Amino acid sequence: MRKITIAIDGFSSTGKSTIAKQLANKFQYVYVDSGAMYRAVTLYAMQKGFISKNFFNSDKLISDLIKINLTFKFNPVLGFAEMYLNNTNIEKEIRTLEVSKFVSKVAEISEVRRKLVEQQQQMGINKGVVMDGRDIGTVVFQNAELKLFINASAEKRAKRRFDELIQRGDKVTFDEILKNVQYRDHVDSTREDSPLIIAEDAIEIDNSDMTLEEQFKKIYKITLDKINELS
Ligand code: C5P
Repeated sequence: MRKITIAIDGFSSTGKSTIAKQLANKFQYVYVDSGAMYRAVTLYAMQKGFISKNFFNSDKLISDLIKINLTFKFNPVLGFAEMYLNNTNIEKEIRTLEVSKFVSKVAEISEVRRKLVEQQQQMGINKGVVMDGRDIGTVVFQNAELKLFINASAEKRAKRRFDELIQRGDKVTFDEILKNVQYRDHVDSTREDSPLIIAEDAIEIDNSDMTLEEQFKKIYKITLDKINELS
């Protein structure tokens, strides 16, 4: 079966990574969570004191980019690759609301984007990759054979993220999650470099009222049809 590149973009907390993991599993593709990379750079900036509430020294982060080494290592128990920052597993730390609050500011910086996009393109060089993010179909893999754009209402998305964080034991309120989702949507869609927009050739899917099963059935069929069409 021919291997293709699958680009999944969309707003925050639309379940892109769930879809991407399911597809990667089904087709034996490599899954890359590009958001994890932006989150990892953000965590680095937080650890170094370059970013905090009302303060961001982007110049320091830019000059430190050379010291940031990002890798994914497959965890066979979880069934997906976890994010490592300079050889330390940071999968849990990058999922906090704190990181979510700062990440869109870090993702606006062109130097950061250039470094991460280059690495992402390298990871997809052999095809057979599913990558999710905000600029995958528009910048990273402009020639991806399949581009999906996932959307859902802000309330539904915030509820999903809220449930996830509560289940982990984080102390958060629904309101702050909703605000964060709306804030990131705004910054991600209005930034100058690689804003979140729908690629012309992307298939748009609103999953507000879909169960996970319904969604997977639909996306699996779209993917299979595309692979068959190209084979
Ligand atoms: O996908 P996730 O919500 O983990 O992404 C975190 C943030 O990283 C996004 O809100 C966005 O600011 C940034 N991002 C990006 N481009 C990508 C992936 C994520 O700008 N390809």
